[in-house]
Parts: sequence; structure tokens; C-alpha cells
Amino acid sequence: MIDNKLLEILACPVCKTSIEYDEANQKIICKNCGRKYPVRDGIPDMLVESSER
Ligand SMILES: [Zn+2]
Repeated sequence: MIDNKLLEILACPVCKTSIEYDEANQKIICKNCGRKYPVRDGIPDMLVESSER
């Protein structure tokens, strides 16, 4: 579970726009560019190199 406050301050490093949390798949999703960032042990990995499209 990720804190809502954390989700509010997180942004896609590519687009600088807000992201969405896919709790079922433990991914952070940027709807703008479609990148998916992994969440490991409740900590979002917002590195572009870690993302998948
Ligand atoms: Zn993006």
C-alpha cells in the first residue's frame, strides 16, 4: 500500500505529470506516455530505466 500523499507528489519523470497507482499489479502508471514503473516493497521505482512501456 502506498501513501496517498506520496502518490500526489510523484510524477512521471518523462512527462512531469501526475501518475496513477495500479494496486493490483503493483505498478505506477503514467497515462500520458503509458510507461509503467515498478513498485518494490511499497516503494515506487520512478527511474526511467526501470520503466516499461
Ligand atoms: Zn509519462
